[in-house]
Amino acid sequence: MNIILIGAQGSGKGTQAAMLAQSLGIRHIASGDLFRQAIDAQNDLGMQAKTYIERGDLVPDNITVRMILDRIEQPDCAAGVLFDGFPRTIAQAEALDSELVHIGRQIDVTVYLSVPREVLLKRLSGRYICRANQHVYNINTRPPKVAGICDLDGSELYQRSDDRGEAVQKRLDIFFNETLRLTDYYAAQHKLEEINGNQGIEQVHEALVRQIREHRDTTA
Ligand SMILES: [Zn+2]
Repeated sequence: MNIILIGAQGSGKGTQAAMLAQSLGIRHIASGDLFRQAIDAQNDLGMQAKTYIERGDLVPDNITVRMILDRIEQPDCAAGVLFDGFPRTIAQAEALDSELVHIGRQIDVTVYLSVPREVLLKRLSGRYICRANQHVYNINTRPPKVAGICDLDGSELYQRSDDRGEAVQKRLDIFFNETLRLTDYYAAQHKLEEINGNQGIEQVHEALVRQIREHRDTTA
């Protein structure tokens, strides 16, 4: 089963994707991880992606699609994949559909994790990460015991440049103006489900599993 999870930064998408992939026994592919791994490896695609990410811009489709296709053809993706952070544009979605056809696969369902913009803004602007292990905190909703210090390893907490002011607004603009159009694209294929992401982690997870199973049963 191949699934796409659509949600803005701050929607809880990464957490939900990891839980969902485990529940369904499929491979979680986060485009952010793919980018970071390629940047760390200092390979050609990674270096190209880095210049865009540092400006707060989206990585161009040709680079992203090449990275994703390399990944889904690995043996550990044979049982299915859960895409998290990809596709982000209609052009990417079309490229993905046509490439999947070549390998005899398809997207089965796309789920939109819906959270209001003002809630996203509050969640994102409070986000801090520890230097040692990237543990995530939120000064509004999940503060550390001692301000500015990681509970788990004592390292300093900092705010990533793309979680600050203007960069956050820019990313949310991109999401609501561009990425959200994907819901129309998949709705036209009768592959769209929508989940209320503005509730507890367990409630969101249960709703995701339930709606995906119902979707699968009605289209099987
Ligand atoms: Zn830590």
